[in-house]
Amino acid sequence: MEISELRKRFNDLIELRQKYEKIIVNRDVLLEGIYRQFYKTCGRKECHCNTGGEKHGPYQKIEVIRDGKQKVYIIPKNKVSEVIPLDNNRKRFIEAEKKIKEINDEICEIIKEIKKQKEKRVDKRWLK
Ligand SMILES: [Zn+2]
Repeated sequence: MEISELRKRFNDLIELRQKYEKIIVNRDVLLEGIYRQFYKTCGRKECHCNTGGEKHGPYQKIEVIRDGKQKVYIIPKNKVSEVIPLDNNRKRFIEAEKKIKEINDEICEIIKEIKKQKEKRVDKRWLK
């Protein structure tokens, strides 16, 4: 890549990274753990859920890892609308974190390339 293209790409990446940095430093609260919907079978043997029919649900839960152990919290119906935005915040944060890492990796590559291109070649002719 030409040095002018490298400069352009470098500046574009810095600008793009700022967009994701804003997500990292905003005041949004993130859900701890993973929000999931699930279906389940009940204890009645003759129920449709145990005879090949539809299972019961959907129910909602949050899976949390604490001290290396998974804990599952069932979300009461009246709390679901409170949990979902926090889960969305968490997803947005994780995505921003991932993007920043990718952008940083590319920036490092570009820095190496720019450095290479900016270096004055040292040789005997020049040093005469
Ligand atoms: Zn059932």
